[in-house]
Amino acid sequence: MSEHAPRVAVIGGGQLARMMAQPAVALGVPLRLLAEAEGVSAAQVIGDHEVGDYRDLDALRRITEGCAAVTFDHEHVPTEHLHALEEDGLAVRPGPEALVHAQDKIVMREAMSRLGAPQPRWAEVATHADVEAFGLPCVLKVSRGGYDGKGVWVVRTADDIDEPLAAAGRTGVRLLAEELVDFSRELSALVARAPSGQAAAYPVAASLQVDGVCNEVIAPAPDLAPELAARAQQLALRIAGELGVTGILAVELFEARDAAGETVVLVNELAMRPHNTGHWTQDGAVTSQFENHLRAVLDLPLGSPEPRATWSVMVNILGGDNPDVGRLYDGYPHALARDPKLRVHLYGKGLRPGRKVGHVNVYGEDLEDCLERARHAAAWFRGDLGNHSE
Ligand code: ADP
Repeated sequence: MSEHAPRVAVIGGGQLARMMAQPAVALGVPLRLLAEAEGVSAAQVIGDHEVGDYRDLDALRRITEGCAAVTFDHEHVPTEHLHALEEDGLAVRPGPEALVHAQDKIVMREAMSRLGAPQPRWAEVATHADVEAFGLPCVLKVSRGGYDGKGVWVVRTADDIDEPLAAAGRTGVRLLAEELVDFSRELSALVARAPSGQAAAYPVAASLQVDGVCNEVIAPAPDLAPELAARAQQLALRIAGELGVTGILAVELFEARDAAGETVVLVNELAMRPHNTGHWTQDGAVTSQFENHLRAVLDLPLGSPEPRATWSVMVNILGGDNPDVGRLYDGYPHALARDPKLRVHLYGKGLRPGRKVGHVNVYGEDLEDCLERARHAAAWFRGDLGNHSE
């Protein structure tokens, strides 16, 4: 069989890999997936997949054989395996030197210090005394392996220190302390960067987290001073360039006030893959983050990150507590009839409370209207407005 385009391997079968498949189809680029289990989100839509463990170098080698490049749904592939794949001659995108900054928060903080990027005061800590010396209140984080707020503790009194220390001890990961930032909101500066050095910056978005999980995103961030937005975009572009990122880089930022009362942005963390704060781009931007990620992975020219409308709103659909909600599909008749401009993205995942199972996008000229429509639809799918299958 002759191939019409280079094949790209994707490691990890979550919704991000699933959403990469859409632009891959449009671009005529075949994907091959290493899935953690049969039937996971991306395995439902990428026919060419195998089940295997991303920590197993042999499985990684098997899946990437004959592929022009490999990219990722998550950041957990061991760095040494990425080096081994590179040594085999495979284009690993993003490469291990860049990706480690999204895997290890201490490595990331050290790099931000080196680049002079604005960030919370921080220190590596190993003992009770280290944390007390750093000063309370503070935030303790495991350097590796945390996600969605797991592995992050707000420490207000000396009694709160034991649990994070014990958790880090159990898993053998390093711990860092950060100043507890009194932020006004969380922002995300999303950029795509190709190996050629070409880069594209999306409008800076505001994200609302609930219990450590991203719930709602507005792009562009309302009332963000143009000068601060430009500074955040330039910061993200500089980080992408200095760290040699290929693909999407999301720089998660805190908007806060400095000692002089000036509004500033501080780097919270980096993600090197399509990111929840960029899902709005699927419908609200000329080129989605998923397409620009793929283009970057293949070193193709990037597409325009320009928005299609003044406002875009994304609201996540989380599994709810309503036991009567059976299939998300049953939410369609009302949701689609109420709002013909609603864009729905479901991930084919089972409903569990708090689990991200889909999202809706709305774009338009009136922010309040976009918010109302997107929130209503997400709440409806979730079952918060009653049992939608009746
Ligand atoms: P994860 O890797 O789980 O996403 P983060 O480092 O992004 O972890 O932290 C999760 C959430 O905890 C953040 O979105 C933010 O709301 C809060 N948080 C993290 N660091 C700080 C900090 N230094 N000060 C205040 N809040 C923080």
